[in-house]
This record gives sequence, C-alpha cells and structure tokens, in this order.
Amino acid sequence: MTAVQSSAGDRGGELARRPPRQGVRGRPSLLGGYVPTVVAVHLALIVVALPRTAPHLDDLLTFGALLACGAVCIEASRRLGMPAGVARDLLSAWWVPVALLLPPLYALLIPIPLQVLLQFRVRRTLLYRRVLVTAALGLSGAAASVVFHSVVPESRAGAPGWVVEGWPGIPLAVACAALFAVLNTLIVAVAAHAAGPEATWRDVLWNRESLTLDVVELCVGVLVTVTSALALGMLALALPPVVLLQRSLMHQQLQAAARTDAKTGLLNAAAWQREADTELSRAQRTHDPLALLLIDIDHFKRVNDTYGHLVGDQVLVGVASTLLGQLRDYDMVGRFGGEEFVVLLPGADTVEACRVAERLRGRVRRLAVPAEDGTVGVTISVGVALFRMHGGDLIELLAAADLALYRAKQSGRDRVCLPALDDSRAPRGEGAPDA
Ligand code: GH3
Ligand code: MG
Ligand code: MG
Repeated sequence: MTAVQSSAGDRGGELARRPPRQGVRGRPSLLGGYVPTVVAVHLALIVVALPRTAPHLDDLLTFGALLACGAVCIEASRRLGMPAGVARDLLSAWWVPVALLLPPLYALLIPIPLQVLLQFRVRRTLLYRRVLVTAALGLSGAAASVVFHSVVPESRAGAPGWVVEGWPGIPLAVACAALFAVLNTLIVAVAAHAAGPEATWRDVLWNRESLTLDVVELCVGVLVTVTSALALGMLALALPPVVLLQRSLMHQQLQAAARTDAKTGLLNAAAWQREADTELSRAQRTHDPLALLLIDIDHFKRVNDTYGHLVGDQVLVGVASTLLGQLRDYDMVGRFGGEEFVVLLPGADTVEACRVAERLRGRVRRLAVPAEDGTVGVTISVGVALFRMHGGDLIELLAAADLALYRAKQSGRDRVCLPALDDSRAPRGEGAPDA
C-alpha cells in the first residue's frame, strides 16, 4: 500500500511532503495526539492477540515465506534507488496474503520488520511517519483479517477450500483487500490532513493515479493470496513478476519525480522550461496570446530568520498550493528558485494576465501559515510579460518578466507590474524600498 516515501500527489506523499504542524516547537496539534494514539492501538492489539494465537507450523512457514518475498522486493527497489518523490510500492502483494491466510496477529506483525528494512536499507524518513505507516498497515491488515476469517474460518494456510470452491471466498478476499486499502488510506490521510490543513480532503484522498495503483495492488494481492493458498511453493513463481511490476512502477515514479520540485510538488525549473517551450511553439503556430508571470515572495528571508526554515518551508508549500488552486488546469506553474515561482498562462492577453496576477496576489495575502506564536502571512510581487509584446521566445519573456518584477520590488512590493516601455536590463538589487 501507500509507503511513506515522499511524493507529491500521493496520499502517503501528502504526509511526507508536509512538515508536521506541531513540529514547530511543541505546539499541540491534532497530529501530535493522533500518531501516538494509532501506534498505541496497534501495539495494544499485538499484546492482546499474542497469547490468543496458537503457533502452527503451517502459519509460521507461510509468514516466513511472505516476509522473505517482501524483503526481496525491498532489496530490489533498493538497487533501483528510491529517492524522494517515489511513494508507491507493491508490498501489499505480501500484506494481503498475510491478512487473508493467517490469523490477525500476523497482519499486525508483518509491517514491522518490512518497514524497519525500508527505513534502514532503502531510505530513511522521519521516524513518526515510518511508525505511523507501520501501525496503519498493521491495523488495516488485522481488520481485513478479522472480517475474512469471520466468514471463512478454515482459511489457514494448507486449507484452501475457499479457493477451490471460489464462492464466497474469492469475492470476499477481494472485498477484504479493498477494506485493507481503504482503512490504510484513511488512517494515513487523517495524518496528512493534520500535517497540511490547507490540503482539501479531495486532494488527500482522491487521485486517479493513486486509485489505479490501489486497484493494481489489490489484484496482485489477491492473486498472490490464491496462489500461495494453493501451494506455498508457488510463491517462487509469483515473486519474479511482482518484482518486475514493482520495478516498472518505480521507474515511472522516478520519471515523474524528475519533473517535480520535491518540496512543493510543482514542476521544477527544468521541466517547466521544457514544457513552456512547447507551449510557446504552439502559441506561435496558432497566433494565440500567452503570458508569463514571475512571482517572488516578499521579504522571505525575514520569515526564515524570524520563524525558522521549517515554517519557511511551510510558507513555500502554502504559496505553491494557493497558486495551483487559483489556476486553470492548462496553466503551468513551476518553482523557479528558492522563493520564486513562474506561471505560464496560455491564451491570456494583458488584461487577463494582470487579472490573474492580481487574484494570485490577493489570495497569497490571505494565506495564514501556522507558526509558534499565531500565524505567518506573506505577500508576493509579480512581474508580467506578454508573448510577442515583450519577447519572442522564452528567454526574452523571462527577462522581461524579471524586469517587471524588479519594478514591483522597487515600487514597494506586494504588487503586479508590467515591464516599463523604457525598461533596460538592470540587476535586481537589495534594499528596494517598501511602500
Ligand atoms: P525580496 O522581497 O527582495 O525578494 O526579499 P527576500 O528576503 O524574499 O529575498 P532574498 O533573496 O534576500 O532571500 C530569499 C531567501 O529565501 C533566502 C533563502 O534562505 C530563502 N530560501 C531559499 N530557498 C528556500 C527553501 O527551500 N526553504 C526556505 N525555508 N528558505 C529558502
Ligand atoms: Mg523574495
Ligand atoms: Mg528571490
């Protein structure tokens, strides 16, 4: 299921991308109470289930074999490299059979060694995230296991009657795997929402790509369950295709991660420039208007100096999602540098571009990012440049927008400017006056 590695757009990734709200020196928050509660419930259930689960050799063998398969998958992803931005794996191919074939205790236990392995062999991430994801997987697996076993009591390894008969075992296995996915997503989504309250529930929960992957994981999980219920040795046949599928999934994610800025989830500068070039060629062909906005947060250094870099980062994330939320699907927004963003507005003329820029300025002004003593607000300055009027290619447009931004800074910040008619190239200096 959703792994803990950071990614933009993914549910676990939402959690990973957003710094914890309480991280700002001990301020109580929903996240501060939520994570220990989830972890405590997970541990308490292990303590309750342990004396009630008789150790059967079949169960232990099945558990060991599935654990070993999970470990092989993790090692395979380690070799591929798993930088920030890669968030999904196919480990539920192994969580689901453990939940359906074995007593609930095993579902509570299996995420622990595998998440430890991920943490130390693949990528270290903040401990609270790793622990929360482990508990979420354990609890959702145990819930799926309890439901499945209450209807199919003889589903222990070595007793595949429900597999041979098919009904109601197989549909129930699919339903329980879905229950596992939904519960796991919900537990992580609550934390993601607490960590980044500006993200809507829709952002955290609904993502077509992520749902497609959930369905793939569900199918693979049920297939591996059925295969290993028939004969444990068949796991040797299931392992290579699962590893291969996981590798191709990660390859895709690596490609996507190479386009995005890990902190904000926007396009990074190189990807934005590539895609903007394509858009510019189209505007050239179709004779459509097109505008470019260069946006810089005002006095951002002061935010860092006053509240620390963590809050500074949250401001960057807040500004980025405000910009995204205010733009059309086909507008392109990227993070250009530290606290500088760039927006391409296909089809926008001067009036439309200035209207959009003013709207963005107004929305960012209203942004309130939680900090230790209340909230932090920022303003932005925006330089606007129009295709053909201010430049015939991307470099010229960027240069013109940069000059316009310089004017906005010079004339007091928190404003939108077009390049002046007599603008000549001048470096943006420090100490520009405020209004
Ligand atoms: P101005 O209004 O003239 O733009 O002033 P400014 O303080 O925003 O601009 P300046 O260029 O002096 O400072 C930009 C600051 O942005 C300095 C740098 O430490 C900070 N910064 C750059 N990238 C990041 C980042 O990823 N996270 C955080 N927290 N700060 C960053
Ligand atoms: Mg700035
Ligand atoms: Mg700057």
